[in-house]
Amino acid sequence: MYGGFCYLNNAAIAARYLQAGLGGGWGESPIAILDIDYHHGNGTQEIFYTDPTVLFCSLHAHPDDDYPFFWGAADETGEGDGIGFNHNWPLPEGTSDAGYLSVLDKAIGVIDGCRPRALVISAGFDTAAGDPVGGFDLSRAGFSEIGRRIASLGLPTVIVQEGGYRLETLGENVVAFLQAFAA
Ligand SMILES: [Zn+2]
Repeated sequence: MYGGFCYLNNAAIAARYLQAGLGGGWGESPIAILDIDYHHGNGTQEIFYTDPTVLFCSLHAHPDDDYPFFWGAADETGEGDGIGFNHNWPLPEGTSDAGYLSVLDKAIGVIDGCRPRALVISAGFDTAAGDPVGGFDLSRAGFSEIGRRIASLGLPTVIVQEGGYRLETLGENVVAFLQAFAA
């Protein structure tokens, strides 16, 4: 099925690359992917939906409101061996910093509870206020706080930049996120 903008899923490739590079002895410890793009990470969810070696967490626009429309509900929790390793937090249009950060804290709690070996962030910035493709209202200070809170996990992390279409503020939001993450 055709969907989205990408032929290759960079975050999924990074997760598999990390698994190969970190080698065996996995035990119960997965790689975590945190998807903070405005749109649900439907491709990533599908790739790992039955796979307990990759924990997928996504905050995104409610599928009733926006792409991908038929995936991204909170009750999609994985299948088979992957049950419990897929977490969706659909959010309403107009979500701003405070509402977003309180839900981000839940995702961070789930990730921390799984004690992953490493983290891949699908770092979308189309959650920014005024993004022509998104409907959230996050500020530059919000992106800074997102970076700070994710960094608190203290995990080896790959950041993959994804959506973000309001070019007037994209650069400053990405810099705010990265500076806070690295602080
Ligand atoms: Zn997006």
